[in-house]
Amino acid sequence: MKCRKCQNKASVHMRQHKLALCKEHYLEWIPEQTEKFIKKYQMFTREEKILVAVSGGKDSLSLWEILVRLGYKADGLYLGLGIDTSTSLSAGSGIAYSQESQRLSEKFANEHNLKLHVVDIEKEYGQSIPMLAQSSHRGYGKPCAVCGLAKRHEMNRVARDLGYDVLATGHNLDDEAAVLFGNTLSWASEYLLRQGPVLPETNGLARKVKPLCRFYEREMTAYAMLSGIEYIYEECPFAEGSQSIFYKETLNQLETARPGAKLIFYLRFLEARKSGELFIEKNVKLGLLHACPKCGQPTSTPDFCSFCRMVEKANVKTE
Ligand code: SF4
Ligand code: ZN
Repeated sequence: MKCRKCQNKASVHMRQHKLALCKEHYLEWIPEQTEKFIKKYQMFTREEKILVAVSGGKDSLSLWEILVRLGYKADGLYLGLGIDTSTSLSAGSGIAYSQESQRLSEKFANEHNLKLHVVDIEKEYGQSIPMLAQSSHRGYGKPCAVCGLAKRHEMNRVARDLGYDVLATGHNLDDEAAVLFGNTLSWASEYLLRQGPVLPETNGLARKVKPLCRFYEREMTAYAMLSGIEYIYEECPFAEGSQSIFYKETLNQLETARPGAKLIFYLRFLEARKSGELFIEKNVKLGLLHACPKCGQPTSTPDFCSFCRMVEKANVKTE
């Protein structure tokens, strides 16, 4: 397979886009696309101050690198969750998850001469995430609900206190499609109406954006690897067996059978949301039904109904 731009050997082949690129052109393509999405969804301008939530993983570090490379003013925020083997609620995977992710985030910031704010939840509030989870009814044996709540709270607090215009997170298409899938399965309308690349600022809540939301997870892995970003490979030990991982696997099966399905699922949802079609009963058409002049059955298409037209077309062809 050859690179579409230079005919050298391709490093990344994206079936869903019918596009193959060499390393050099891939490393140009991702930031170019990101810039397009930032503009399309009106995420932020070059004058605004951006706070990137970094976890030490491939997505958030790549996002930070891309934004800076594109000339945006972006600082980082690392939240120390205290998820390590020493914690009693640890899932026992044997990795010092928080320590390692902090080390890699700091290393990245130093190497690129960027400003990273570090907030340690335990130092700030006297308890780490696993400790908070144990003493909260939200725990259910897993600290994720507590963790999500704390992350949202702290990201917003830091953004507001330090005067950032916008909060950026590294959610990719796989993340967004999995959330969408979960919310669709339960028809969680309130969540569905709020899901999107941009969550506008509302009283006291900073604007939130997801510039990577249209990239597949493996596209981001390829970007991080090819650009030499050192990131933490391990997932948080508590992610294991989670619902979102199950949804991701399900969507991956679908994607294997129908390349592009994940992207279409997400993009069509965004279109429907934007046009206001979501959850608005489309009974308008029902009122406009009339009888097909040929068969007499109700139809919304002008003149003959779709069935009669199909039959007629087929007969014309075979005549
Ligand atoms: Fe927090 Fe995610 Fe780990 Fe759950 S899996 S504890 S939400 S970092
Ligand atoms: Zn090339």
